Amino acid sequence: MSKLEVLASALILRQTDYKDNDAIILALSEQGEFISLYARGIKKSMSKNAGGLQAMTFSQLTYFEKTKGLHLLKSAKYINSYVKDLNDYDQMMTAFILVEIITNIQRYQVENNPEIYQAITQALSLLNQVDNTLIIAKLLVIVLELNGQKLIADACAKCGDQKVNYISSDYGGFVCYECLVSNDVEVYSLEVMKLFRYVNKTDLLKLKNNDFKDNDLLECLKIIYSFYNTYTGEYLSNIKHFIDVE
Ligand SMILES: [Zn+2]
Repeated sequence: MSKLEVLASALILRQTDYKDNDAIILALSEQGEFISLYARGIKKSMSKNAGGLQAMTFSQLTYFEKTKGLHLLKSAKYINSYVKDLNDYDQMMTAFILVEIITNIQRYQVENNPEIYQAITQALSLLNQVDNTLIIAKLLVIVLELNGQKLIADACAKCGDQKVNYISSDYGGFVCYECLVSNDVEVYSLEVMKLFRYVNKTDLLKLKNNDFKDNDLLECLKIIYSFYNTYTGEYLSNIKHFIDVE
């Protein structure tokens, strides 16, 4: 039996109860590796590891690496929580959605990528400062980009013309009137088109609320979620909290 001891700084994504006192932990290391751990006895009141294993906590983990199945947790040291200062339900729901987006990556992308870790921790750190729908939309754009599905938000996806009229999922972003073949695209307002460009082109940490209208923000999130859903085949169970989806 392998008993290699590993030390990892990681974000706790999920804690699932198991038996009476145990839990299964899903964490994401700074190197962008998803780690599944068996945590024994952490539901007991005396557990010194419990505080470092709450979802959305950044912790120092020590575990025994198993070649098969779950690794076995030795200790978890709490460093910081990304949600300790949230007192608003919408922000909490947003945090859950951000984690859901990241957790889903395991199903369609297998390689470890530190940029995944960077994106989720930066997104969580913005919760008190930037509009919820803007953060969610941006994280979706980032995971699509990491998956080789960068959306086209500079010019027409087909001819490169700067004058764009539509957003098309067939073309992966902006398309102009001349290049449109089928007419089954939805027509969006200029504000929504601008917002789509803004979310795609602005760095995550540079996002600002500006004067965006709530309806435009929701519309933009809906468009980007539709790309995400179409391209990755993934759904987000909590997204209904913000937008209507089938
Ligand atoms: Zn064109």
